[in-house]
Amino acid sequence: MRILIVEDEKQIAQFLRAGLEAESFAVDVATDGERGSFLARTNDYDLIILDNILPKKTGLQVCQEVRKEGKSVPIIVLSVKSEVSTKVELLNSGADDYLSKPFSLEELMARVRALLRRPPKVEGDILQIADLVLDNKKQVVKRGAKEVYLTRKEFALLEYLLKNAGAVLSRGMIMEHVWNMSADPFSNTIESHILSLRRKIDTNVKKRLIHTIPGRGYKLSEQL
Ligand code: CA
Repeated sequence: MRILIVEDEKQIAQFLRAGLEAESFAVDVATDGERGSFLARTNDYDLIILDNILPKKTGLQVCQEVRKEGKSVPIIVLSVKSEVSTKVELLNSGADDYLSKPFSLEELMARVRALLRRPPKVEGDILQIADLVLDNKKQVVKRGAKEVYLTRKEFALLEYLLKNAGAVLSRGMIMEHVWNMSADPFSNTIESHILSLRRKIDTNVKKRLIHTIPGRGYKLSEQL
C-alpha cells in the first residue's frame, strides 16, 4: 500500500511518515501543493493525506485536480480550519474525510484503515440507485421497469449525479463536469436540465431521488 503525504510542515510530515512506515506503508512526501498535485495525478496511490493550507496550491485545489483527472483514490484532508463551510467545500471537491489539526496518530490511523477497507469504486457500465438504473454501454436509463428516454446532456447529467450519489453537487461542480468551457455559468442551463430530468425520472414515483439543497446544489439519494 502506497500513501502520499502532502504537507509543508516538516515536523508533521515526518511524524506521519514514521507512523505510516511503522505500519508498513510505502510513503511519499510532497511539501507543496503543486508537487503534491503532480504526484497524485501521475502515480497510483492507495491513499492521500493532504494538508489544506499549502504553498503554491491549496489542498482544495489539489483535491479538485486529482478528481478531475478521474482518480478515485481516497483523500483525507488535514486542516486547522474547522469551519463547516470549509469542510463542506472540501468534501464537495472530492475529499473522503477531514481531520482537524491537532490530531493524534491513532485517530488518523483509524481513518486510514477505514478508508482502505472500503471497496474500490466499481467502474462498471451500470450505475444504480434504488430502482433507477443507467446502463452506460447500452445508453439506456430505466426507472423501475420503465425505460426513460434522455437527451445526451440529460444522460451525462444523470450519470454525473449517479457517480456522486449521496454527495451534494454544486452548480459549479455540475457545470465543470457536465458542460464545457464555453457554457455560460450564469444561464439557467443546469436548472432546466434538472427540471426535465425530474419530469422524466422523478414523477409519479414512490421515492423521489433528485433533491435540491437550498444554497448548495443538488443531491441524488434515497434520503434527503
Ligand atoms: Ca500547512
